[in-house]
Amino acid sequence: MEVKLIDYATAPLEKLYAAFRTCYSSETPIEIWNKIKAGNISQERIREFISERLKTGHTSPLEQVVFWFAIAGVSRSLSHQLVRHRVGISFEQQSQRYVKFNKNRLSFVIPESWRRAGLEAEFESFMDRCSQLYAKALAAGLPAEDARFVLPNAAPTNFHLMVNFAELLHIGDVRLCVRAQWEIRRMVALMRREIKQVVPELAVFIQPKCGENRMGYCDESFEDWRKCPLGKVRPHKSVLFELYDRYGKEKLKSLSDEEYRAIEEKEQL
Ligand SMILES: Cc1cc2nc3c(=O)[nH]c(=O)nc-3n(C[C@H](O)[C@H](O)[C@H](O)COP(=O)(O)OP(=O)(O)OC[C@H]3O[C@@H](n4cnc5c(N)ncnc54)[C@H](O)[C@@H]3O)c2cc1C
Repeated sequence: MEVKLIDYATAPLEKLYAAFRTCYSSETPIEIWNKIKAGNISQERIREFISERLKTGHTSPLEQVVFWFAIAGVSRSLSHQLVRHRVGISFEQQSQRYVKFNKNRLSFVIPESWRRAGLEAEFESFMDRCSQLYAKALAAGLPAEDARFVLPNAAPTNFHLMVNFAELLHIGDVRLCVRAQWEIRRMVALMRREIKQVVPELAVFIQPKCGENRMGYCDESFEDWRKCPLGKVRPHKSVLFELYDRYGKEKLKSLSDEEYRAIEEKEQL
């Protein structure tokens, strides 16, 4: 698998600063940018401000920072999962209709579990058989779009993709989680690693949802949390609720009609 950050929005921290600041300032965005460009706002201040804002639920400014990635050698199993993300992300994927794969470009992705099970040789011989039949179909004049019907989920594919920071955080939440499959998890981890090299201030926020810079706790099933290696260092939501119940000022209750009335009626809760 190859994952390369091709490009990203210039001055991402300044863009985030200006976008957030515009919401909270009597100054116009042009005035804010003039200050940034004149160096009147230190890099430290910009980092601090963004870091504070990133702790809140105000996430739309993050959509204004964009990253471009080139990704190669991932399986069609991964691509099925990746393209389910539909907001704030744009994909171009290598076509199996227009591209005719010759055998040496069909390097199938083999999960480690096949190796561990001692089934690698059988896996490879099956893939060889698929490649041969695929090549035979092309030679017989079938169009690539029909010949591909014998290609398995292990077939390799490539992406050129653009994703904004808000969506990348969401993808990190669910795909860096141990509940996600190893291949897409690795791909997102490598995306994070690429961003860390150029904008480490933003990369620290790309975490599984249980990470200290994200939701902070696991909301998957208790059983999954118990099995998860991150469960040793991040809490499960039920544990937090138990603690709240034990030490909180009031016991946790379901929201009642009374609470809904308070939501409906009080101007300032
Ligand atoms: C561990 C795991 C297991 C999975 N298993 C399955 C499975 O068995 N079967 C299956 O079909 N899929 C499965 N999926 C895929 C999953 O259901 C989602 O399709 C995928 O994670 C894409 O995420 P998203 O819906 O948050 O879309 P994104 O585009 O990434 O969403 C971004 C944000 O926008 C919100 N959003 C997006 N579209 C809308 C909308 N129309 N209305 C309101 N809000 C919206 C999302 O809630 C999210 O907050 C699995 C995903 C994971 C991580």
